[in-house]
Amino acid sequence: MTAMKPISELISLKGRRALITGAASGIGRAASLRFAEAGADLELVDVDEFGLKGVKELAEEFGVEVNVHRVDLSRKVEIDLLWEALRGREPDILINNAGVYWFKEFTEVDEDFYEKVMAINLHSVFWMCQHFVRARKDRGGVIINVSSIEAFLPFARGLVHYDTAKLGVVALTRAIAREYGKKIRTNVVVPGGIETEGVKKLKKEAIMKFNVEKMGISFHFNARLPMGRFGEPDEVARVMLFLASDLASYVNGAVIPVDGGFLST
Ligand code: NAD
Repeated sequence: MTAMKPISELISLKGRRALITGAASGIGRAASLRFAEAGADLELVDVDEFGLKGVKELAEEFGVEVNVHRVDLSRKVEIDLLWEALRGREPDILINNAGVYWFKEFTEVDEDFYEKVMAINLHSVFWMCQHFVRARKDRGGVIINVSSIEAFLPFARGLVHYDTAKLGVVALTRAIAREYGKKIRTNVVVPGGIETEGVKKLKKEAIMKFNVEKMGISFHFNARLPMGRFGEPDEVARVMLFLASDLASYVNGAVIPVDGGFLST
């Protein structure tokens, strides 16, 4: 029971190990630093080895153990090898955050592109969850998946493939929450416009190329945003920390927007 524990103990991740994908940048990087601050040892996964090294150095300043893994999550064989390497120190917490928001007109999407997007944004989440559940179904644990407001309210143009994958992540989350809820809490966060490197690049491109349609969509996006500003990666990371910790001990199968109120308007 967690009811009588003090808040400092409920939020602490001391003695736990968290695996975070897409840890080299944006939301994953912010989550890595907050989880380290909360005392979790880390297994950080990304294709960007250089970025991972930078996050490792910063996270280690909190005195936790940090291991990095260069893994291309679009390849199941690499996911399997990762979990082999983790044998004996399987994480208590899994955050499936890595994702790509590559834009392409629906009519231009070919099989290779579609397969790649689905592999990174949905299939990898499926396989990572399967490995985690196999390892933790008796001992218990926490999974946090990452979807997008786009899955519920397609707003940008050229993301049909992305929206399809990201709604799949929601279905996967809820099904696992249903089947393994006795031991494993599984929830999904739904970020809105978060000012990460990836998003900054997209905004810059729209302005540089004077893409009037994209600039228009961006204007309308801001206009219906109750908080009137984009979020910071750390604002998503803090919700992930809450969900991973015992503060959220009765939260399972939840779909949690972190979107400044965008979906509510
Ligand atoms: P980001 O681009 O800043 O970071 C994503 C990370 O994932 C990168 O470090 C990248 O190297 C890694 N990655 C990409 N493909 C990979 C692969 N095949 N194998 C391993 N790692 C891979 O992105 P972000 O903005 O921080 O987004 C994080 C998550 O949040 C994504 O799932 C994204 O779809 C979701 N999201 C973001 C926003 C936003 O506004 N930023 C909004 C909604 C949802």
